[in-house]
Amino acid sequence: MKRKISILGSTGSIGRQALEVIEKLNDKFEIIALTGGSNTELLNEQIRKFKPKYAYANDYKSVEGAKYASLEEICSNKENDIILVAVSGRIGLKPTITAIKNGIDIALANKETLVMAGDIVMPMTKEYGVKIIPVDSEHCAIHQCIKDISQVDKLIITASGGPFLHKTVEDMKNATVEQALAHPRWHMGKKITVDSATLMNKGLEVIEAHHLFGMGYDRIEVVVHPQSVVHSAIEYVDGSVIAQLGLPSMHIPIQYAITYPERFEGIKSKSFSFSEIARLDFEEPDWEKFKALKLAYKAGTTGGSATVCLNAANEEAVFAFLQGKIKLFDIINTVEKMMENHTVIKNPSLDEIFEIDEEIRTKSRELFLQLI
Ligand code: MG
Repeated sequence: MKRKISILGSTGSIGRQALEVIEKLNDKFEIIALTGGSNTELLNEQIRKFKPKYAYANDYKSVEGAKYASLEEICSNKENDIILVAVSGRIGLKPTITAIKNGIDIALANKETLVMAGDIVMPMTKEYGVKIIPVDSEHCAIHQCIKDISQVDKLIITASGGPFLHKTVEDMKNATVEQALAHPRWHMGKKITVDSATLMNKGLEVIEAHHLFGMGYDRIEVVVHPQSVVHSAIEYVDGSVIAQLGLPSMHIPIQYAITYPERFEGIKSKSFSFSEIARLDFEEPDWEKFKALKLAYKAGTTGGSATVCLNAANEEAVFAFLQGKIKLFDIINTVEKMMENHTVIKNPSLDEIFEIDEEIRTKSRELFLQLI
C-alpha cells in the first residue's frame, strides 16, 4: 500500500530533496498535500508533476491545479500517514501540534518545533501515540543507532565546524555574508547555513536531541568532525560506541525518515568506501570562538522559556546579518544580551511561547538599530 504523505515546505531545500526521493520511489508514495510560501512558480510546477490533492501558498489565489487548504486543514487531514515538516521557523510549530493531535506521524526537519516547545510536543506524541522521525542528519543518525535508550550513556553529535573552523576570531568578525554562506560540506537554506557558520545550528541540535531522546544536557557531547561522514554516535553504558556513517547527502536521512521503518535503495549515488575516505578527523569545538554553542547549552540547561529566547534572538539576528544590517559576531552578541535580560518562565504555555518569541524579536530589532 502506498504511504500517504504531505510536505510542509515543499519548495525549500529539504522539501525539494524529499520530492526527488519520492520521485525515485514513486510506487511507494501518494502525495496528499504540498505547501510553499511565496515561491508559487515552483510550487505550481511541483503540483503539475506530483498531483497532490491539496496545496497551500501564502497567496491562495496563486495555487493552480490543486485544492487550496490551510496548513491547519492539511495537518488535520487524517488521510495522511505521515507529514514531513520541512518549513523553517516558528511557522512549523502549530501545524506539527495539529498533526500530532490527529495521530499523524511526523518526519521532522523543523528545528523550532522542539527548540521552542519540546516540553509540550514530546509528551503529546506519547499521549497520541505518534512517532517523530528526525530528518536532521545528526538526529537521524542517533535514531538509527539506538535500540534501547535506557542503555545509552551519552549522545555524541558531530559538527562539520562550518567555513570558519580553522579561521581566526578576527576573520570571523570581518566575515561577509558570502563567506558565511560558503559551507564546505552541505548545501542548505541560508538561515541554517549561517547557523552552521556560528555553530548555533549545533546548539539548536543539542536542544532538539535533549527533547527527542530524553537525554540530559550533561550527556550530550559535541565533537567537530570536518569530513561530515560520521553523522553522530551514541555510547552505551558498557563503553560500546555505535556511529552512523554515510556520504554527506540529505537524501539519505530524508528517505530514512519518510520510509521508516523500511529501507529502499532510492537515490543512493554510490557505495560507501572507507578506503576512499581514508581518514576521519575529530576535535574538540573551540568554545571561545563558537560562543553560540555555550549559549545554547546554557539556554537548554536553564530550560523553560530560555530556549525560546535563544531561538528568537538568533533568528532575527541571522536575518539582519543576511540583509547586511549587522556583523556575524553581532548575532551571538544579540543572543547573549537577550538571554541576560530575559526573565525565564518555567513551564510556558503555547500562547506564552509565541508572546515571548514576538517580544524577543522586537527587542532584538531595537538592538540592531543601535548597532548600525
Ligand atoms: Mg544537522
